[in-house]
Amino acid sequence: MSRDLWPIGEQPPVGEVPKNMYACTVRRDRYGEPLHSLRIETVPVPDIGDDEVLVYVMAAGVNYNNVWAAHGKPLDVIAMRQKAGCADDFHVGGSDASGIVYKVGKNVSYPQVGDEVVIHCGTWDADCGMVKEGIDPMFSPTFSIWGYELNWGSFAQFTRVQAHQCLPRPRHLSWEASAAYMLVGATAYRMLYGFPPNVLRKGEPVLVWGGAGGLGSMAIQICRAAGALPVAVVSDPSKFEYCMNLGATGCINRNDFSHWGMLPHWSDQQGYEQWLKGARSFGKAIWEVLGDRRAPGIVFEHPGETTIPTSLFTCATGGMVVTCAGTSGYNATVDVRYLWTRQKRLQGSHFANDEQSRAFNNMVIDGVIDPCLSRTFEFHEIPLAHQLMFENAHPHGNMAVLVGAPQRGLGIYQERPHLSPQAKAA
Ligand code: NAP
Repeated sequence: MSRDLWPIGEQPPVGEVPKNMYACTVRRDRYGEPLHSLRIETVPVPDIGDDEVLVYVMAAGVNYNNVWAAHGKPLDVIAMRQKAGCADDFHVGGSDASGIVYKVGKNVSYPQVGDEVVIHCGTWDADCGMVKEGIDPMFSPTFSIWGYELNWGSFAQFTRVQAHQCLPRPRHLSWEASAAYMLVGATAYRMLYGFPPNVLRKGEPVLVWGGAGGLGSMAIQICRAAGALPVAVVSDPSKFEYCMNLGATGCINRNDFSHWGMLPHWSDQQGYEQWLKGARSFGKAIWEVLGDRRAPGIVFEHPGETTIPTSLFTCATGGMVVTCAGTSGYNATVDVRYLWTRQKRLQGSHFANDEQSRAFNNMVIDGVIDPCLSRTFEFHEIPLAHQLMFENAHPHGNMAVLVGAPQRGLGIYQERPHLSPQAKAA
């Protein structure tokens, strides 16, 4: 007889879907710091639609977006969904996962039940006019991040995803390492390759903020693979070696400078000169790392308010500052004189489309990218992992959580008879 609820780490037979599951949830009356906001409870296993897939989660990746979700800021994700007609009064976060497919909708050809997959977090409505026209689905008004804007993410025993989100799992990685890289990696890939003509070029310097963080660790490796020259910025020299081992050309300690934050008004001559002095000395530190008076053709941005003025100042003429976040704040001030006379580009970027996610996943499959798994947590430690991230006290690289995988290090690939022909060919 099938069970209604399985303990964490005990796997139901492939294809057997219980009625209920354990999930780590956020509720509106608990919004606040992750340690307080995230709790484990029992919820029903979600139904799937014709183009969807139900995945038994073996491991989940930890990302900053569920630090935001825990706070209900800047977006109250539960209220936003309820306004759009969704009945769920809780949020199951988690935008990265590795797992096994347990059920597929009737229109789905890949993946099939039993396939081992990693999941990218980009979702959209396939019936959207823009998507049908072949426009990048990242520009569709229907685009949403699974496990953040959409409910039923990977901090649960089962997750519901659109079939196109599933990609083959790298054969040489454990379940937790497989779950650690996709969100940050595909985001970094789009930032560095998605906006021609400002794309990675061999021998070109690239400034990478937060080089030892999730995005930064992926960006350094993508740059290295292209033969570009990534200069990593970090907050402590203890992170230098980590970045150098990933392929950084050199590192800068941001705490050696103090001009961070919003630009002083241009009419405040004294304040502005002070800021300029700081920005110039930071630019000089880049030259010292490169051994050459060259400016970065791409600046890989995400801290936002504290760093954007310096990013735009140091970026090369005709270069691009590409940003996907504002961790330190959203009022990113710009001195437009540098923007127009030096013809620089300030480009926004958000996650990645199917092609970019697949291209990045292939780099991992080919062993070109290390997922940089730093620490693996137990399921009940999901709040702790997010609290550490909130406090910027988390380890270098990317963190993961065991959900269905009973212990660390499992999942290194062996032949599995239950794989579909499509998965074997992938
Ligand atoms: P992470 O692992 O915490 O890394 C971010 C790094 O930024 C930290 O390691 C820190 O390194 C650095 N940092 C923090 N505050 C800073 C400041 N004031 N000035 C300069 N550097 C600072 O986080 P992540 O996963 O890389 O994500 C970073 C941000 O990007 C988050 O806000 C996340 O939500 C966002 N994000 C957006 C997308 C998207 O698709 N739009 C995708 C992924 C992530 P040091 O202290 O060593 O400098």
